[in-house]
Amino acid sequence: MIRFNKPYFTGKEQQYIQEALREHRHLSGNGHFTKKVQQEFERILGSAKCLMAHSCTAALEMSALLLDIKPGDEVIMPSFTFVSTANAFMLRGARIVFCDSRQDHPGMNELALEELISSKTKAIVVVHYAGVACDMDVIKDQIGNRNIVIVEDAAHSIDSFYKDKPLGSIGQLGCFSFHETKNIISGEGGLLAVNDRKFSERSEIIWEKGTNRQAFFRGEVDKYNWVDIGSSFLPSDLISATLWAQLEKMKEIQEKRVSIWRRYHENLKDLESYGLALPYIPEYASINGHMYYLVLRDQEQRSSLIKDLKKNGVMAVFHYQDLNSSPYFQTQGGSRTQQKESIRYSNNLLRLPLYFELELDEVDSICSLIIDFFEKGEKLHPHSIK
Ligand SMILES: *Cc1c(COP(=O)(O)O)cnc(C)c1O
Repeated sequence: MIRFNKPYFTGKEQQYIQEALREHRHLSGNGHFTKKVQQEFERILGSAKCLMAHSCTAALEMSALLLDIKPGDEVIMPSFTFVSTANAFMLRGARIVFCDSRQDHPGMNELALEELISSKTKAIVVVHYAGVACDMDVIKDQIGNRNIVIVEDAAHSIDSFYKDKPLGSIGQLGCFSFHETKNIISGEGGLLAVNDRKFSERSEIIWEKGTNRQAFFRGEVDKYNWVDIGSSFLPSDLISATLWAQLEKMKEIQEKRVSIWRRYHENLKDLESYGLALPYIPEYASINGHMYYLVLRDQEQRSSLIKDLKKNGVMAVFHYQDLNSSPYFQTQGGSRTQQKESIRYSNNLLRLPLYFELELDEVDSICSLIIDFFEKGEKLHPHSIK
């Protein structure tokens, strides 16, 4: 059986966990490995400050606190995303304004933003779906000189680029996830990249329960106090020890994942004549091997392909359900318009297995099954497939 995802461990995780336990004797947050990981991300991203968090969800919640989101503020984000993107801002009382996906890509339609922006818009949360960059220059153009902050939900986007800029380093704030379904993992885990220096000092305070404890540790103040609101966002050093082992091997992990992605793309390229779409990569975006997906003709075709693959021992899964039409958002009044493309991706998008230990010959067998499915389908229903 080929699973959809299999978390990969490099073998060094246990050693670093042992080190944290035995040598450093530090289990709480902000220990030896946390500092190493944060410094490494500051180097990679060029951020003013990077802070480890329990999850990308927590990093998004920190963002909402940092931006002082209040009831009545509007936050624009794609409707085709994970619930955490929206929850983090809903928790502060924001009104979520959903943006539809692009016709050629599940990411948000950058050109639709201007119409959604109002005098109440505080932030735009950009999600680089499947690690494929949104067109950040177009988004900045739409914002113009308004005072609107860009937050990048970079949960899929480690080691991926917009032009030559790493994703997660472009908005004033960037949020990463190291959940075991992502490329580089620590089980649960996330990181807030503070790219705009004006948020640096306060980000540390929010991270440390609203206290200036970090400044106290650095000897900048003589006692630490409650100075703002905050929470406990810092994970145990064991999480960072696990992550450090992964970061050391990032290049190898990424090369393998990208080679799997390219193999799928090469093997399946002729299927577009059957009316399905393969991932579209704009010239300004890179590939980071986070996800390989197909966009099928309709939900029925997707269900029968899932069934067919499952019968042959391959697990393929769909993804987000359009948030705008979710039961919860409907109780909140929903929004005026339906997100037509987002609904289409909710119904028709199918993700194929992609993980470090997946072998290229396994990718080939998965592709043969898919190609067979379409070739058989054409014989059975010659008129239903263009
Ligand atoms: C996985 C994911 C998250 C949440 O990440 P956690 O680390 O599990 O909180 C948020 N946004 C997107 C787009 C994701 O894919």
